[in-house]
Amino acid sequence: MSTESVKQKRDSLPGTARRDSRGQLYGLIHAERRTSRTRLAQLSGLSKGAVSGIVGDLLDDGLIREVGTQQRGGIGRRQVLLEIDPRARFVIGSQLGDDACTVVLVDLYGQFEREVVIPVGGSVPSDYLDAVCEGVDLLRADADAPILGLGVGVAGSVDGSGRRITVAVPFGWKDVPVADALEERLNLPVRVANRAKVAALGEHWARIGQGIDHLVYVHVGSGIVAGLVVGGVLSFGRDGLAGELGHVTVLPDGPLCDCGNQGCLHTLASGPAIVRQVRAKARLAGHLPLVQATNGVSAQAALEQVLVAAKQGDQLACAVLAEAGRYLGIAIGNLVTLFNPQVVVVGGMVGRSGACVLDPLRREVEWRALPDAIAGLDIVSSVFPGEESGALGAAALFLQQSEVVEAIPASGPETRHAPDSRASTLIPA
Ligand SMILES: [Zn+2]
Repeated sequence: MSTESVKQKRDSLPGTARRDSRGQLYGLIHAERRTSRTRLAQLSGLSKGAVSGIVGDLLDDGLIREVGTQQRGGIGRRQVLLEIDPRARFVIGSQLGDDACTVVLVDLYGQFEREVVIPVGGSVPSDYLDAVCEGVDLLRADADAPILGLGVGVAGSVDGSGRRITVAVPFGWKDVPVADALEERLNLPVRVANRAKVAALGEHWARIGQGIDHLVYVHVGSGIVAGLVVGGVLSFGRDGLAGELGHVTVLPDGPLCDCGNQGCLHTLASGPAIVRQVRAKARLAGHLPLVQATNGVSAQAALEQVLVAAKQGDQLACAVLAEAGRYLGIAIGNLVTLFNPQVVVVGGMVGRSGACVLDPLRREVEWRALPDAIAGLDIVSSVFPGEESGALGAAALFLQQSEVVEAIPASGPETRHAPDSRASTLIPA
């Protein structure tokens, strides 16, 4: 077929159908890793001519490449194999931590290229956004391919369109237009989500190739939030509230929670709840080292002291953490029965603290969840030492919710990311 007739064929597809077909074929090549035009036609239901035209477009854009040939069953014509060029475009992910922002550059398969951690100089939103912009500028300066966009994991609740923080209690923030502010400064499309929820996607990406499609991530720090990956996709619920595990009831007549309920998991197993109990019990027991270590400092600093004491074998600190682990196990046992995950990952400062929390947590899950749901279930700590899962997950979310295969000029996209753009199939199942 001449170049002119291929071009005519490509141009004959109506705009929307053509874009949808590009997305479909790109998603199939991404999922199959290596495939041929014939196989793409079989999988997509498109004609061989339409597949050839779109594959030509994707080759022209540098998004895919040809990598040798194969002959099926040793007979017939040899077929040219195609694969995604993972480094044809990059995505940046960022996590707003408590006192620093982690910013990562990843390729189209989520492989880390580079990571920077930028300390935050103050406590207002602009201090954090300054740090994100500094990190993005550093990574963008070194990247040798266009950046598609930025995903940002933030503390607190995010509106349904993934653009602004509605409220972040630990930071005392309300109604922060994160995506608008960053898009204006960086000239990149931006997507925002709760940092613990996107961390579930980061943990999922870290396990791609292990056949993990159903994963629950539970962040236990100043708050308790779960990210639910169901069939490879992060679940947000109607208003983005899915996974607010800190506010499920685990003790009907327990302490009053800020949300108005009694006995929420947050009042019994979050970082502030652990510090409150250690302070009270240490004073009652006359445990002077723990009294001194946990009073007159912030709740965050006090929690660090409790975790250090537990690691050194302090019985009182371990007992309080074990109690928190039991309550976490009750809530996670319910999640296991409801969602039947393959893996439960526990992260956050408390979740990463080790056996004092994890052992009683595991025992409680094993006792309470349905036996068939526990069979083959892994309950593990995060594979990352710091906040990388949130930053990686934010990048993954951006890829899942953006139209990556649209032609993007080397200088960066000119149009803003549409908040309601359809999910594509870029993350392999
Ligand atoms: Zn509550």
